[in-house]
Amino acid sequence: MRNMAAKKKSTPLMEQYLAIKADYKEILLLYRMGDFYETFYEDAKTLARVLGIALTKRAHGKSADVPLAGFPYHALDNYLPKLLNNGLRVAICEQVEDPKLAKGIVKREVVEIASPGATLNEKLLDGKSNNFLMAIYTKNKQSAIAVADVSTGTFWTAEFPSGDLVDNIMRYQPKEILVPEKEYEALEVLLKNHVPAILTRRDDWIFNRDFAYETLITHFKTHSLKGFGCEEMDAGVSAAGAIIHYINENYKTRLPHFIRLSAINFSRYMVLDESTRRNLEIDWSAAEGKQGTLLSILDQTATVMGGRMLKQWLQHPLLEKNAITDRQACVGELLQSKDVRDELFKLLRSVFDMERLLGKIATGRANGRDVVYLKESLKVLHPIKMLIRENGLNDLQKLSDAIDELPDLTGLIDKALVESPPLTLQEGGLIRPGFNSELDELRAIAENGKDWLVQYQEKEREITGIPKLKISYNRVFGYYLEVTNVHKDKVPERYIRKQTLVNAERYITPELKEWEEKILGAEDKINQIEYKIFQEVRERVTGYTAIIQKNSRLVAEIDCLNSFAMVAYENNYVRPIIGNHERLEIKNGRHPVVEKNLAPGNDFISNDTMMDLEKEQIWLITGPNMAGKSTFLRQVGLIVLMAQIGSYVPADSAEIGIVDRIFTRVGASDNLARGESTFLVEMNETANILHNATPKSLILLDEIGRGTSTFDGLSIAWSVVEYIHNNKKLHSKTLFATHYHELTELALLYPRIQNYNSSVEEWEGEVVFLRKIVPGGTDNSYGIYVAQLAGLPSELIERAKEILSNLEANELTPHSHKPRLAARRAGRNVDQNQLSLFPAEEPSRIEKEIKKMDINNMTPIQALQKLDDLKKLVDK
Ligand code: ATP
Repeated sequence: MRNMAAKKKSTPLMEQYLAIKADYKEILLLYRMGDFYETFYEDAKTLARVLGIALTKRAHGKSADVPLAGFPYHALDNYLPKLLNNGLRVAICEQVEDPKLAKGIVKREVVEIASPGATLNEKLLDGKSNNFLMAIYTKNKQSAIAVADVSTGTFWTAEFPSGDLVDNIMRYQPKEILVPEKEYEALEVLLKNHVPAILTRRDDWIFNRDFAYETLITHFKTHSLKGFGCEEMDAGVSAAGAIIHYINENYKTRLPHFIRLSAINFSRYMVLDESTRRNLEIDWSAAEGKQGTLLSILDQTATVMGGRMLKQWLQHPLLEKNAITDRQACVGELLQSKDVRDELFKLLRSVFDMERLLGKIATGRANGRDVVYLKESLKVLHPIKMLIRENGLNDLQKLSDAIDELPDLTGLIDKALVESPPLTLQEGGLIRPGFNSELDELRAIAENGKDWLVQYQEKEREITGIPKLKISYNRVFGYYLEVTNVHKDKVPERYIRKQTLVNAERYITPELKEWEEKILGAEDKINQIEYKIFQEVRERVTGYTAIIQKNSRLVAEIDCLNSFAMVAYENNYVRPIIGNHERLEIKNGRHPVVEKNLAPGNDFISNDTMMDLEKEQIWLITGPNMAGKSTFLRQVGLIVLMAQIGSYVPADSAEIGIVDRIFTRVGASDNLARGESTFLVEMNETANILHNATPKSLILLDEIGRGTSTFDGLSIAWSVVEYIHNNKKLHSKTLFATHYHELTELALLYPRIQNYNSSVEEWEGEVVFLRKIVPGGTDNSYGIYVAQLAGLPSELIERAKEILSNLEANELTPHSHKPRLAARRAGRNVDQNQLSLFPAEEPSRIEKEIKKMDINNMTPIQALQKLDDLKKLVDK
């Protein structure tokens, strides 16, 4: 078939192809030819490379051979996700007239453009994540993003200062970003290596505000955007209009489940910049992916809609006290009864993805099963509401009361569709008996016809005396009588022969044909009517889009709150007291992820945090490597974040003044691909903090200045702390973990800087990390000890100790006598150093072992063995 198609078609076909391709220059064009999708030229090379299929050639009139690659049309479902996953956009060009009726070349049209960000393809959708398409537009230093999920109808727009663009893009991790042609190059440079999404250029005029406004009101069929709170937006309207324009172009139609646009005001939500999201491992961990993240701990949602909502809550931590306490109140109610939580979870488990089912139904892609699943889900809403009401969960009831059970719609679907419809739509079997009288009549005719056939077969067997005479059906001849060759002689004359097989003959009779017409006519009609009724049901469902979407949101919220309660119960979390102040008091706080992942036998050590803007603004945390400083910093950030999404927190008690931004600067990471060295990245991140933090912010600094020379680094770290302390615009609560113990002197100079350290003890010659953050500084890192633990060669360790002792003897300057940066606290042992962890006057373990030996009472073998033990000890 394929070769035939290739041979038959000649230049006019390629002309048609080229004419269509001209409109889709940057898009891979799948060109339908008979039973195949074909690609040509560069598209063919791309297709062959991405799908790993053969690249061939086809003669193109007199000109040179044209590269060609293709696949059978039924493989589209398998191949399309692969193409989109490779960041390609794909135009699907179909034959839009019956080839038998076509005069000349068959008419072809692009019926859909598939793209990674605007897909409805289930194979590309992750249940618990939104698949975001984004558009960006910048005007007069104001940027805007519009975000849409085509599968759910989610559609938001927001405006903000241009400086926050990358952070706000990363908030949503879009799959595809629409950008105006004129900004394409600049944005490509800006977003490269930050954002894994594909950038799709769009004509500038599409973003023109008036045009975009018109696109939106035409789509929503409204007179203005006032109802959406977007009327006054400028860049926000441009970006949102570009999204609708793109979707319309891709789907060649208006998507009816896009029924509203929400204006998001970012000033109502906590800001988490890109690096903070990464450092706190909120929903993605560089080391472990989804595992090891805060989301993995918090997500015990029963529905995928709840899973998506939880991600959205993490994208938008709240700043309004009441909004937070509303969520807390619901969690509190749910915490009172495990039975209610379990029952609610069980009910929610049987709710399907109503949002995405609706998306499929509204776009005409749903089958009978999808509609039944939606109905089944809607039917669970009643018991959910009853459970909440009957158990007196008054706060949660405010949400559940707003759920509309849609009894009319479920009733209609119940009456119309069979319990378990087939996957096909045009072959009947969808509609229940009794729903439509015409259908019932036709079914009776078809049924009668089939009874008649059975009787006719019986009758003919008797008349002809052919015991195995059989009536069968195929598409070519319709119904026929089949007689095996053994009984050939018994065939009466009135039988009309239609086909001869090796062992049998096939016949028809006028009566058989007459009934065939009745049966097939009825079946055809049945299929048509069933399909029509199904379409009507689909239309009815689509008419309830707003309510179904609202129900989905409410169910998702209830699911998230129940998940919070289950997690809080399992992990012993408490309800944090939220206030509009700058204090942060956490009693026995824990890291929600680390506490769950410790090796067996290891307990997580809880820690207190008592910060304010009077005395405890900046905590300088020193202490050995491996002592738990980083864990502590992150745990404080995560507890604040959890509190502000309405979750309970891992602590004995917590009082949290609402934080407007959490900033982090953690460890060393370079971005060589972006042309930024480790140190430059570090300084960029620090600059971002110093420019944007406020007295309501929480800053977590895990080392600053380590990427340059000691003196440069120390000087920068020192001045950063001073700046945060002294600059009234900042005054942010700051946790600063550092190995520069010289910085502890800052506490002597400034009233709101305090020293803390992560304590250690020595026990049987080993360092024991207590992981307790206690007041006071330390001037020891025990880095060499940790290096020893890691197995660095022993001579190297000895040498390092020697060098360290020399360095410390000279303090900071090689010429000694120079004072340290500030006076020390009285009583501090200045000469304490790394080696003093095992003071000289203390006998070493080897010495102790030797002392214990009673040589006079040892056999030569025992002595040799002991010597061997001692050697092993030394080697270790
Ligand atoms: P470095 O200065 O080398 O970066 P650090 O002081 O920041 O070290 P962390 O990385 O926070 O130390 O902690 C080291 C390990 O100690 C963690 O991987 C964790 O397993 C464990 N740990 C940290 N804090 C605690 C704690 N509070 N209770 C129990 N174990 C902890």
